[in-house]
Amino acid sequence: MVQSVAHEAIILRVRSYAEADKIVTFLTDQAGKLTGIAKGAKNSKRRFANCLDPLARVCMHYRPRPVPGLVFLERCELRRPATSYSDPQRLAYGQYLVELVDVLTEEAQGVPELFHLLDEALNLLVTGPATAPFLRAFEMQLLQQAGYGPQFTECSRCRMVFGAATDAVLDLEHSAVFCSSCSPRSTQRSLLPVRGATLKLLLDLKQLPLYEAQAQRFDSTALSETALALSGLLAPHLRRPLRSLTVLRQFAAP
Ligand SMILES: [Zn+2]
Repeated sequence: MVQSVAHEAIILRVRSYAEADKIVTFLTDQAGKLTGIAKGAKNSKRRFANCLDPLARVCMHYRPRPVPGLVFLERCELRRPATSYSDPQRLAYGQYLVELVDVLTEEAQGVPELFHLLDEALNLLVTGPATAPFLRAFEMQLLQQAGYGPQFTECSRCRMVFGAATDAVLDLEHSAVFCSSCSPRSTQRSLLPVRGATLKLLLDLKQLPLYEAQAQRFDSTALSETALALSGLLAPHLRRPLRSLTVLRQFAAP
């Protein structure tokens, strides 16, 4: 019999299966994203108590499979309950972050940094608000961790290094950035002109710790251009529409 392992995990998605089972997708700190079956989870108050809810942070005990497929979930210890969020808006943003990670990653793909990024973000939402710089920093760093982030420092074609005042053009579909001379003329591509200040902010958000982003203020024009750029950069990699955005539309977007 395969030895069971225990990993720190964040629950991403849960659905009912058969009479009493649950199918659970979770992001671990060591083995990437996994999906497992929790047999009898609906009747077991002891093995999975308050653990199998999206956003919950748990220690997941499971038996891995030698071939890709469902792992067998044995039990959980609760680290941070899904009910930690004091208001519906923070909860809704937490659901957005979790869903974004889920749609951007493949099974068994994932690095410890991705787990720590999501874990820190959810922790910060327990104690503070989902400010615009916090959300943009998370989106930017998630793109980087998932391997889709452009570099923003130089033109993807002529390699000219951008200064603070250089305007540029983002090719959202190909995660590339061009100087105005090299910008493709094709109308087929999703091209977004961005100002030098916005480019600099995108670059800063790559490095900015989330707790600093949460408290920091930025120029509002650069922030809204950044929001547009990031949603455009994320869009080609989303494998399905985000359900959490429907809930988020009830709140004014920061
Ligand atoms: Zn160029």
